[in-house]
Amino acid sequence: MSDCIFCKIVAGDIPANKLFEDDDVVAFHDIRPAAPVHFLVIPKAHVESMLEVRAEHAALMGKIMTVAADLARQQGLEEGYRTIVNTGRVGRQEVYHLHVHILGGPDVLPAML
Ligand code: 5GP
Ligand code: ZN
Repeated sequence: MSDCIFCKIVAGDIPANKLFEDDDVVAFHDIRPAAPVHFLVIPKAHVESMLEVRAEHAALMGKIMTVAADLARQQGLEEGYRTIVNTGRVGRQEVYHLHVHILGGPDVLPAML
């Protein structure tokens, strides 16, 4: 997807502060952090959103979540964190390349919903 900003990060065409990368996923710090620690885990393949996720994506989705958990530990989020996946117009998704947000910090996060 030539017009997708996260595909450009995957391709190395625009810079990102990467935490992890393998054949399937990339993790990088959010450019506008909403918490002391705020990073994103994305598939390298262009999957637009959870609206496209099917059984064939099960292994990839599991990988994304286990990478998120490993990186959260590495980032010192031993007392917890928030994971968010915004999906579609109703979910206020801004970047249409599936991504899991991980937010945490030393203090308890503000309440939501
Ligand atoms: P969404 O609302 O789609 O779940 O959130 C997209 C997130 O991507 C936002 O938190 C935004 O700050 C982040 N973001 C958008 N463009 C870039 C970028 O070019 N680099 C990085 N590192 N993060 C980005
Ligand atoms: Zn993409």
